[in-house]
Amino acid sequence: MPRSLKSVHKTGRAVGLRLFRRNSNAWVRVADVFSRFPLLAGVIGTAMALSMGVLSFAALWQGRAQALQNAHEASANLVATLSADISRNVESSDLSLRTIVSGMENPATAKLAPGLRSLFLFDGATAASYIGGAFVMNAQGRIVAARDRSQHATDSFSDRDYFTTHAQRADVGLYISGPYESRLRGGKPSLALSRRINAPDGSFAGVAVIALNRSYFDSLLSRVNVGRAGSVFIVQRDGVMLARKPPLQATAGNTPRTISLSPAFAAMKDQPSGSYISVSALDGVRRLFTFTRVPGTNLIAGVAPAEDDVLQGWRHRSKIIGGLTLMFGGGFIAMSWLLAISLRSRAIALEKLQRLAGTDSLTGLSNRRALDRRLGEEWRRARRAAQPLSALFIDVDHFKLYNDTYGHAMGDDALVAVADCIQHSIKRPSDIVARYGGEEFVLVLPGATAASAVTFADRLRLKIESLAIPNSASPKGFLTISIGSATTIPRHGGDALKLLNSADAALYRAKRSGRNTAVHEDSMVDGSA
Ligand code: GH3
Ligand code: MG
Ligand code: MG
Repeated sequence: MPRSLKSVHKTGRAVGLRLFRRNSNAWVRVADVFSRFPLLAGVIGTAMALSMGVLSFAALWQGRAQALQNAHEASANLVATLSADISRNVESSDLSLRTIVSGMENPATAKLAPGLRSLFLFDGATAASYIGGAFVMNAQGRIVAARDRSQHATDSFSDRDYFTTHAQRADVGLYISGPYESRLRGGKPSLALSRRINAPDGSFAGVAVIALNRSYFDSLLSRVNVGRAGSVFIVQRDGVMLARKPPLQATAGNTPRTISLSPAFAAMKDQPSGSYISVSALDGVRRLFTFTRVPGTNLIAGVAPAEDDVLQGWRHRSKIIGGLTLMFGGGFIAMSWLLAISLRSRAIALEKLQRLAGTDSLTGLSNRRALDRRLGEEWRRARRAAQPLSALFIDVDHFKLYNDTYGHAMGDDALVAVADCIQHSIKRPSDIVARYGGEEFVLVLPGATAASAVTFADRLRLKIESLAIPNSASPKGFLTISIGSATTIPRHGGDALKLLNSADAALYRAKRSGRNTAVHEDSMVDGSA
């Protein structure tokens, strides 16, 4: 590798390593936060799981809206197809009607022989399978011409709604009748398309009629698939149901059902098209209705898939995804709290361990290790605040003899009693009491001046004496202590160890001066000494 490349490679590695260290430091800091606030893991885990759950349920809800929208679009396409088919056929029949009317209004037609006239009036379109018959009726409602010879009848049809409508008004145009049973074709359910024929003076001269078989609508609807509980229907604007799939239960006398009273129909009849969700008044099923008015007619085509059918797939998916979300989310929350609890118990155990590591097992006081740490802290604090710091070195007098006289176990008890007494003598939380080793104790009094250290030492010495622990080896007859104390105002460059040494030196002098006494070290005046 060339030298320059090598150095680039090396530099790259160094940068990578630095980045790794920086990142790992960040991770260590995050881990440190978690170990200090263990329950944070549970709270953050719960918040994360809840957020994921909310997102997941929002997506599912969105899926529901999408399923409904898709169904609506499919229904809109279906009604458009139905409407186009009906409209085309009505238009074609209307053209045939117009041919018949213009033929009948031409005086020359009347002169034709009946057979020829029929050929002339009824074009090929009237032979379509859905057309049951084509007729011309005179002003009395009697058939004067028919597509089929067999359909010439003598009785009058002047009672039919299409007849009376055209007879009364000249401007109706194409009229679509209500449903009826054909008298000519053995009661076949029918629907008439009709136009008025005028006499030369404009008066009513009869009607041209094309009878549609209502089975046309049934066969049209039978080709539409609207699911298990869906419905598709053709209804007239007055609410009369012409055809429906599935078929409705027959009414008495086989008259067509009307839905004119249904509130849903009220919304439908005045709009060209639309959609709504409604519980069907006919069978109680909740459906998504999409409807459109068939242009040029009084008909409305509607498609209404059942909501249950539309949402079936979505519900199935939602159950699985929702269930899994709840399961994993719940699991995640449980895991984060388990982690939080275990972090917490580890933190508690660690704290306990740290406390034990700094505690003397016999007396329960701080040991040398804890004393060193806390003395360092108090030293720095006193230096910052420029306040005095006093230390007391305490040693039990003639303790070897005590042990020799009363035994080691009694010696231990005596040490515990002395330790308790020292512990109870302090007032402030910042004061430190430690067992320095054997029968020696150290007291650190932050903020205590030399004078108050001396007073404190004397009072403590008397307190121990007043415990009246018998010690035959002592001139007093009781267990006593000697105390050496020192005071300083720490300055930069000073040393906590020197303070202890001064107190130790004072203790030495106390021992030399006959024990059961407290000596203050006045040579120690400054931490920088
Ligand atoms: P002085 O008055 O000069 O201090 O004499 P002393 O006998 O107290 O001092 P010395 O240093 O000669 O002896 C200390 C004794 O303390 C020695 C040891 O047996 C005893 N000792 C140290 N630690 C313990 C302890 O944990 N339990 C018991 N029972 N005795 C201890
Ligand atoms: Mg000693
Ligand atoms: Mg001693």
